[in-house]
Amino acid sequence: METIRTVSWMKESARLARAENKIVGLVPTMGALHAGHMALVERAKRECTQVVTSIFVNPTQFGPKEDLAKYPRTFESDSQKLEAAGVNAIFAPQPSDIYPPNFRTYVNVDGLSERLEGRSRPGHFRGVATVVLKLFEICQPTYAYFGRKDAQQVRVISQMSRDLNLDVEIVICPIVREPDGLALSSRNVYLNPDERKGALVLNRALTAARDELASGTRDALSIQSTIQKIFSAEPLATLDYAEIVDADTFDPVTRISNPAYILLAATIGKTRLIDNLYIEPAPTSGDITFHL
Ligand code: AMP
Repeated sequence: METIRTVSWMKESARLARAENKIVGLVPTMGALHAGHMALVERAKRECTQVVTSIFVNPTQFGPKEDLAKYPRTFESDSQKLEAAGVNAIFAPQPSDIYPPNFRTYVNVDGLSERLEGRSRPGHFRGVATVVLKLFEICQPTYAYFGRKDAQQVRVISQMSRDLNLDVEIVICPIVREPDGLALSSRNVYLNPDERKGALVLNRALTAARDELASGTRDALSIQSTIQKIFSAEPLATLDYAEIVDADTFDPVTRISNPAYILLAATIGKTRLIDNLYIEPAPTSGDITFHL
């Protein structure tokens, strides 16, 4: 496994892979790798002949009051995990190589970027879209792998990819959870033992929403009220939003009849966590497939 530290070296390696007709899979990450990241890597390994994992804590997607400085950085153990998984290259550039002095160009995916996560974290998706476009240009992947955990992020990236005619196929992978249901996240390390228990409220709320849907409710307000009740019983949690949105437009829906997401964001102690339930109603029978 190669560890590639510069943009110019990565571009050279990408040119070589293309010349050799490799099917290149890119797994963009910010490091502090867990089983959720590794599931993306494993899928890429199955589908590609060359797998590149980028590790880059992207400063432009963090707000001024967010956790950029203390975001967990565990390069040695990340590198061991990726080597064991058979990854061909880690791309781990310096921020100054990605954003040299006088950097001025950003990608903005209008409409999808301002609400939900974008409302709570202004500028976040501009930073994400910009760095992902740069990673695509530098690594030239055939496929790029993203987790459904960050549902709005992957929607923004798919839109960018379509709008800008990018030559990359976006692959969306399911959420990986702890045995007790907490979605894996690099930020879970911030939780103390009480908060770790409190964080289960996200999964509890989504499970209750799923049960309510399974018993026939399609009314978004009723499901939202169930979620709010569950959150108000958890003293360590502050709900930021619980929204039910169309899976394509990310516009709020009042009745669930098309593919939709229930999106949650909450602060547990000082740690902000997100989670979601993806709902796919069958067009004719009305049966629902849940992706929790
Ligand atoms: P991050 O390092 O947090 O930027 O995440 C890198 C990629 O891993 C993103 O595509 C995330 O959606 C994905 N990811 C993070 N956590 C999970 C999880 N629990 N299950 C599946 N994918 C995940």
